[in-house]
Amino acid sequence: MKNKTKGFSTRAIHVGNEPNVKAGGTGDVVIPIHLSTTFAREKVHVPTAGYEYSRSGNPTRDALEKNLATLEHAKYAFAFSSGLAATTNIILSLKSGDHILSIDDVYGGTRRLFKRVFEQFGIETSHVDFTTGEDLEKYIQPNTKIIWVETPTNPLLKIADIASITKIAKKHTILTVVDNTFATPYFQHPLDLGADVVVHSMTKYIGGHSDSVAGAVMLNNLELAEKLKFLQNAVGAILSPFDSYQILKGLKTLSLRMRQHEENAKKIVEFLQQHPKVNKIYYPGLAAHPGHVIAKKQMNGFGAMISFEIEGTIATGIHFLESLEIVSIAESLGAVESLIEHPASMTHASVPREERAKIGLSDTLIRLSVGIEDVEDLIADLSQALDSA
Ligand code: PLP
Repeated sequence: MKNKTKGFSTRAIHVGNEPNVKAGGTGDVVIPIHLSTTFAREKVHVPTAGYEYSRSGNPTRDALEKNLATLEHAKYAFAFSSGLAATTNIILSLKSGDHILSIDDVYGGTRRLFKRVFEQFGIETSHVDFTTGEDLEKYIQPNTKIIWVETPTNPLLKIADIASITKIAKKHTILTVVDNTFATPYFQHPLDLGADVVVHSMTKYIGGHSDSVAGAVMLNNLELAEKLKFLQNAVGAILSPFDSYQILKGLKTLSLRMRQHEENAKKIVEFLQQHPKVNKIYYPGLAAHPGHVIAKKQMNGFGAMISFEIEGTIATGIHFLESLEIVSIAESLGAVESLIEHPASMTHASVPREERAKIGLSDTLIRLSVGIEDVEDLIADLSQALDSA
């Protein structure tokens, strides 16, 4: 199939799943789960169909990687056992003495990995407040090798201007990596905006059903792709054939899900806006959001993550969550079912209150991952829980 000429959903459904109807093929319209750990060959020096051992290459994982590459407008894609495994493999392409310049409101697990794991190996990270290339230029050091961007960020939905950041990064010959987990390739294409590498936690929207932990890296640069291919095999944090199959299945409905997620999110934002107990809403689709203009320019949609502050104390936040009947209290996001969390008592409970306040995480901040249930039911659930809070 000539991928570039086909639409997003056509590619999501077909690329990697092409049935083999030729002699010897079986015509499966879904890629089988190739569980074999090794692949027998007829001739010592000729691996059958290029496969040797499942860590270095597996037909189900290959099918997924092909699909991921086309959706993210990349030449190469690599699937890993989690989003953090994907990030780890990117950072392993650096060496001791190198420096990472990261956006401040980065996912907590990414921050922990940079600070508590890679600093032990001499790779330093600065977390700074930037949303444009201009903001970040003053923080670049002679040893800065990667600019790490997450946009929208977790949990404050901060928007970084990918094109302006990559322009400055290129001037200094620094790689820009964008964590595209919240937007997905359905709403945002960082490589088209000049980024060098895209990383995903596929545990979220790409998988979409809260049943696989998975990560991916997509890129166009051959030299870096060869390094990552080497690292994927050498480090071994590969995605299993079963999870590769699950993610491929999830991808087929990504466009449908993202459209419904966003439609629901917009209606929920409207509901929250008129609710007297809601003080502040963080959603890039709102004209008042500081990143709205950039989001409109670089995204095809605003996504379905909403953070908001309610009236009251930390106890009010807890009571509100515990009063919900449909929305589940859980730390993940991006799934068909709506998930909600209270950073002050869950993801950021270990951060001292003053520190939380400094980064804008108030006691009553709530992060909602809007699912694709009937939105009227979600609104009714939020409404009764807000009344009881
Ligand atoms: N990036 C973002 C934006 C995330 O939200 C997460 C997890 O929540 C990760 C990366 C890490 O992904 P995983 O949990 O699949 O390792």
